[in-house]
Amino acid sequence: MDPHLFLDRDGTLIREENYLRDPDLVVLENGAVDGLLRFAAIGYRLVVVSNQSGVGRGLITEEDVIAVNCRVRQLLAQQRVSISSWHHCSHRPDQGCNCRKPGRGLFEEAAKLHPVDWERSLMVGDKPSDVQAGLSLGMASALITTGYGGKHIEWAQQHGIPIVHSLDDMADQFI
Ligand SMILES: [Mg+2]
Ligand SMILES: [Zn+2]
Repeated sequence: MDPHLFLDRDGTLIREENYLRDPDLVVLENGAVDGLLRFAAIGYRLVVVSNQSGVGRGLITEEDVIAVNCRVRQLLAQQRVSISSWHHCSHRPDQGCNCRKPGRGLFEEAAKLHPVDWERSLMVGDKPSDVQAGLSLGMASALITTGYGGKHIEWAQQHGIPIVHSLDDMADQFI
């Protein structure tokens, strides 16, 4: 049973681009590599959990999501960072699935691949739905101020949610 660092993708691991479909536009967020290397070094599995409602809305395809994930994987591999598994929800909010965050489906999917030590695991993302998903599974969960995170700082403060400014800062605060 390993501790996991669950990561949102857009606005957390890579720069936010609305309904990103072009792998050439992938840019890793500042501090992402350094932070992930620090968590990996102490035995954390790194898992991406991403809402991709652009698929359900017909704005992007499953292939686009996979192509972008592959580019992220390539950029991380160049820095010796390895993501244990990638999970995404393709549904629209109105479809009422249980995988769209703050639902738990993506996390449960990951847990089937590798048992999760939930007590030591962490969640980080740039939206309240990311934080709420993590909290509902009993994980310490942080709001990152990149992506849309800057819009939710007051919400995080009101709810006593830890605020981090990068994944490297996440390592500073949680390791
Ligand atoms: Mg995001
Ligand atoms: Zn879903």
